[in-house]
Amino acid sequence: MIDLAKYSNEPEFQTALKEMFASLDESVLNNPRYQKILEDIVVPDHIIQFDVRWVDDQGKEQVNHGYRVQFNNVNGVYKGGLRFHPSVNLSILKFLGFEQIFKNFLTTLPMGGAKGGSDFDPKGKSDGEVKRFCQAFMKQLYPYIGADKDVPAVDLGVGGREIRFLYEAYKEYSGKSDCSLTGKPLDLGGSLCRTEATGFGVTYFALEALKQYKNTDLKGKKVIVSGSGNVALYCLKKVIECGGKVIAMNDSSNAIYCPDGIVFEDLRVLKEDKRGRIKEYADTHKNVTVLPSKGIWDIQADVAFPCATQFELNEEDAKKLIQNGVIGVFEGANMPCTIEAAKLFLKNRVIYAPGKASNAGGVSVSGLEIEQNGKGEKWSFEKVDKRLQSIMANIFSNIYKTAKDLGDEYDLVKGANNYAFIGIAEKMLARG
Ligand code: NDP
Repeated sequence: MIDLAKYSNEPEFQTALKEMFASLDESVLNNPRYQKILEDIVVPDHIIQFDVRWVDDQGKEQVNHGYRVQFNNVNGVYKGGLRFHPSVNLSILKFLGFEQIFKNFLTTLPMGGAKGGSDFDPKGKSDGEVKRFCQAFMKQLYPYIGADKDVPAVDLGVGGREIRFLYEAYKEYSGKSDCSLTGKPLDLGGSLCRTEATGFGVTYFALEALKQYKNTDLKGKKVIVSGSGNVALYCLKKVIECGGKVIAMNDSSNAIYCPDGIVFEDLRVLKEDKRGRIKEYADTHKNVTVLPSKGIWDIQADVAFPCATQFELNEEDAKKLIQNGVIGVFEGANMPCTIEAAKLFLKNRVIYAPGKASNAGGVSVSGLEIEQNGKGEKWSFEKVDKRLQSIMANIFSNIYKTAKDLGDEYDLVKGANNYAFIGIAEKMLARG
């Protein structure tokens, strides 16, 4: 068994390992065939680290750290997003890369696990600065990626604008135009429905789970969606389409409480087109209360979708949601609930879906983008959306069945981790 104390200087990675190993069934942990795998699986195949030197609008050279963690490719090419955020460090990227191995397996598409990024903060930077940063980042990264090797994608702080700059730079430096990145804008070979995929996907997952456990859906439900970036916005859109009312959202500065329901297009324009802050929504809408960011978890709701960032919802927040009668918590972000919060949900029979299963919609459509690029095809929005729905339903069904077989149908963490671990372990054994 691995010594988790060894990872105490990498707290996020250590938490991800704890979550995985604490949930593996005895039959897996004690299986002699898996003993070596349990040790090997925590070590990334490669870690690439580099300086990114770029010039700001004042003509001054700036230096950031860049990383790519290629964790495990037993299930296919390394695949996982790039994150640009000041908090980025190796511990966070190892945590996300490790999670990605299992998430990608759950999609049933041929993708391994990886993650990368930089401590660069695109917030408040001009387009020119973001472009120069992306060019400098790709100058370092391009030798290590490519359609048959490693295919990075969007994540926090990396959207269509950044992927465009990165992909143009990749083509220039490598002389190739293969599918080396996903989440590309449509004119560069991107897939329809990729922008919507993670937010739509987590909502499709929620519908499956609400039906299975509570014989209900989202119609008339009061919903909290934390964050207001890519995942949160398209979760908002789909929840509204499914008849739910999203009454609260946030960013890292503030939350807004809108008992009448947040209007998707208005928030989309504010966030995507104007790159504004969420509190500005109150300037143009009536009956909106602006709260501190964490105030979002004090609000009474039936269903919650944490879609902002890791560890945004702790045990205290979980207690408040439970007291307020929440019936389901579906993670759109990666590990937004602390382990303690997740345990509390399970204990109180709140449906709790771990991100590695419920937010797999994004990487699934990235997989479909690779497939389309490989075949030289462009699929309709409806076709991609349908494949997404079926992938999410399949993920729910597989992990629900595993959870039930292991003794507690509500324990989707156990269901997801055991199902995916066994799948990856068997592939590693077959590879030898
Ligand atoms: P974005 O950068 O588009 O949006 C992130 C949002 O979260 C922003 O509104 C940001 O606000 C907010 N936020 C960040 N930190 C906090 C905080 N501490 N409290 C409240 N809000 C906060 O990222 P994405 O939407 O792409 O990603 C969100 C999460 O989903 C991440 O965990 C990511 O790894 C995960 N994910 C994303 C996928 C995708 O396809 N995009 C796929 C699978 C998972 P602010 O502007 O103030 O920083």
